[in-house]
Amino acid sequence: MTINDHIHALRQDIEKSSKNSTLNGRSVNILAASKTQPPEMIEQAIEAGITIFGENRVQEAADKWPALKEAHPHVKLHLIGPLQTNKVKQALELFDVIQTLDRPKLADATAKHHRNHPSLATHHYFIQVNIGSEQQKSGILPEDADDFIAYCKHELKLPIAGLMCIPPAEEPATPHFTALRNMTKKHELSQLSMGMSGDYKEAVEAGSTLIRIGTGIFGKRL
Ligand SMILES: *Cc1c(COP(=O)(O)O)cnc(C)c1O
Repeated sequence: MTINDHIHALRQDIEKSSKNSTLNGRSVNILAASKTQPPEMIEQAIEAGITIFGENRVQEAADKWPALKEAHPHVKLHLIGPLQTNKVKQALELFDVIQTLDRPKLADATAKHHRNHPSLATHHYFIQVNIGSEQQKSGILPEDADDFIAYCKHELKLPIAGLMCIPPAEEPATPHFTALRNMTKKHELSQLSMGMSGDYKEAVEAGSTLIRIGTGIFGKRL
């Protein structure tokens, strides 16, 4: 199957799963997770109609994306991997959306830069929640999430679009997706970035608005 076939099949699955969702009428966007993929593969996904891409590493994005962005100005790039405070400036120059705000120090640095650069006015942000409270994983812990979300929204006045999570690999994902959805509701956030190649159907049924798909579009990573 080609990248175009994969994307076509994915769209059909999304439509089916959306019908099973309790949240009718919400549209689900596809983010193509393009880490390790060369520009030729990314170009194929753009031709198939993908307009949102995600990269995990600032340096890899800096190598690949300035040329792609220039050729395809309508495409939006999201950072979906961890961000170090000392790379905030570079990240905000490369990415349109940061999905991985997860601690006050990072939020402070981001807000400061956002505020001081009017060209970033359309940038927005997601807060990553460590929904399974896993030791190795980044993301704010669920018990600290309420305070952190409120801090980002109301004190820092960051444009927070929604929440993002990666549930534990070895557990059923649906309870975690539902927990994240309830958090967005509580904080009146509209976007839910959840669901990957292995669990996007469950994510869409639980109300995801943005699924992040790597292998399901590009095939196995090299
Ligand atoms: C790589 C990655 C994905 C995509 O994973 P697949 O299983 O290949 O679909 C989604 N989200 C994040 C944060 C990733 O790093």
